[in-house]
Amino acid sequence: MANLKLSHIYKVYDNGHKAVNDFSIDIADREFIVFVGPSGCGKSTTLRMIAGLETITAGDLFIGDTLVNDMEPKDRDIAMVFQSYALYPHMTVYENMAFGLRNRKMPEPEIKERVLKAAKMLDIEEYLERKPKEMSGGQRQRVALGRALVRDPKVFLLDEPLSNLDAKLRAAMRTEITALHKSLKTTFIYVTHDQVEAMTMGTRIVVMKLGYVQQIDTPMNLYNEPYNKFVAGFIGTPQMNFFDVTLKRDGASVFVNFGNGDSVSVPYEKVSKIHSRYLDGQTPVTFGIRPEHITLAKDGDGLKFIVTNVERLGNETIVYGKLGDSLGEFTMKDEGNNIIVKVVDRDDIEVGDVVYAMPNPNKVHFFDAETEVTLMSKIPPYNTVEAKVSGNAMELLYSRVAMPPVFRTAVGGAERFELSIPPQAIVPGSDFCLKVGRIENVDDQRLAYLEYGDSYLFALVGDDVREGDDYAFSILNEKVNLSVDGAEVLQAVEDDVSVTGRFSKTEARENGERVMHFFYHVGNYAVEAAPEQGYKINSIDGDACYKNTYRYAVNRQCIRTVAPGEDGLDAKVLALLDYGNVTFARVEADSQEFLLRVEPNFRAEQVRVAWNSEDISVYSTAIDMKIC
Ligand code: ADP
Repeated sequence: MANLKLSHIYKVYDNGHKAVNDFSIDIADREFIVFVGPSGCGKSTTLRMIAGLETITAGDLFIGDTLVNDMEPKDRDIAMVFQSYALYPHMTVYENMAFGLRNRKMPEPEIKERVLKAAKMLDIEEYLERKPKEMSGGQRQRVALGRALVRDPKVFLLDEPLSNLDAKLRAAMRTEITALHKSLKTTFIYVTHDQVEAMTMGTRIVVMKLGYVQQIDTPMNLYNEPYNKFVAGFIGTPQMNFFDVTLKRDGASVFVNFGNGDSVSVPYEKVSKIHSRYLDGQTPVTFGIRPEHITLAKDGDGLKFIVTNVERLGNETIVYGKLGDSLGEFTMKDEGNNIIVKVVDRDDIEVGDVVYAMPNPNKVHFFDAETEVTLMSKIPPYNTVEAKVSGNAMELLYSRVAMPPVFRTAVGGAERFELSIPPQAIVPGSDFCLKVGRIENVDDQRLAYLEYGDSYLFALVGDDVREGDDYAFSILNEKVNLSVDGAEVLQAVEDDVSVTGRFSKTEARENGERVMHFFYHVGNYAVEAAPEQGYKINSIDGDACYKNTYRYAVNRQCIRTVAPGEDGLDAKVLALLDYGNVTFARVEADSQEFLLRVEPNFRAEQVRVAWNSEDISVYSTAIDMKIC
């Protein structure tokens, strides 16, 4: 039994191919985690790094509380089952299962007990004296499972174990492996390219594409709330329908307008998390709707299409069709404008029928046409509201508040501007007050829909806030973006300060032992790195690390100013930025500019800053990779 933690894991192969990027997950004891994605997306590489069969380029891997990056595979207490079974052909089933235990010098009686117990669980007791070639694929895969089982490992790793089996056997083995997981009460990590296997077996699924994790979630969350178009299309059969559309809000409705002039409407309340900038009738949006979330009518409202094929599967019918062109003409031609609908209890639909599709408004998905990311995130990334300049103040969210000098400079002479405010930047306070229309629990956070005009301002609120309350709040001015007439004029201040610099080591003799000291440099200032971080950088980049430049991301909250006599980095103050609630100094040091949080009464022209190495994250500048 064990939990696992993968923290910012990367794999760069010797040929420079980046197979796995920034993979992080906390796996609880007894979870059944599935890595799924198309061939080449990095599933096996990740699994092999967990097994210890592949080195980890960067990042930390913990099994239980132990960092195992450099631990031999045999010491990790994990067992791996491969697609190819990897059985010894000249040994009997019993010998194959006993082999690993004999290598570990386990006493024969105990080996026998374990093999018999595993054989019984897997229903292969009667084959123990057979050789692998005398068995079917399914039986051989059971032996491979048995060989893993007898070791009683903390973690089971399974790499496409069913892909050599025929469809019927696969379905049966799926159920068996799930049952095995339940009875063993052990952590399973299972790799497959088959989304049905993933959906039916995993307690959580990691969807990967081209080396990047796309989403980590439960099967139902992946199905209901895919993070992007890739996940939406990958999970579910037949695949989700996608259409190029624009969205236009009209009061309580949002019209989904298709290229051919057709449109359907969904209530605004169902899609209120979509940012208003997508509801302008022109921004390209991808509309997604699953085949099972469309109803068909012979006449009436909806998306008109011609039926090109019908598959009657008994319990359900899959209807294939094509939308009409911009002239309202239908063609059966085999290009574009496809729609697939899954219906039950309908045997009246025939090829050539012209029918109407009505999407279920509770099941619609919308994605940014360019980034392909969902427009319906559980927590909207930001709210945009308009502000009006009024003397020294700004009118915003029905209140008049002092205008921070930084805002004034940014907007220049403009009389109106827009603020994009992330929900996290709305905090209890006294500047504004809006009514809480609704509260939604999102994971362990509470998302409040604050009523603002005919739409909502989304905020994260504490447990004491109730629906119907008047919520008094302030805005963290440094966390917002400003724009004037659609052009961004001020960006939010990031949490970290990014600076670049060198990395070095010194060797010293201490108590007769050779001891290494590693340092992060920015200009003339150096802080000593923890030895394990130093060794990590060295192990990733080799001795080139002492010539390379690294990006150091320093937690801004932890940067302090120190007296001139103390160790630190000298910085020249270029400007003071007064945000009202906080003040920053824009400073320059070692030809690099960054923002420093200062007291409101700060007036110095020169400062000396210092930081601790534990508040620094180190990134490679050669390839985009977090090292430690
Ligand atoms: P998956 O298991 O998802 O099919 P892999 O983890 O096997 O994918 O491979 C991920 C990527 O890394 C692929 O592009 C593959 O070609 C590449 N790759 C795998 N092994 C090596 C290797 N030893 N050297 C270089 N590239 C490799």
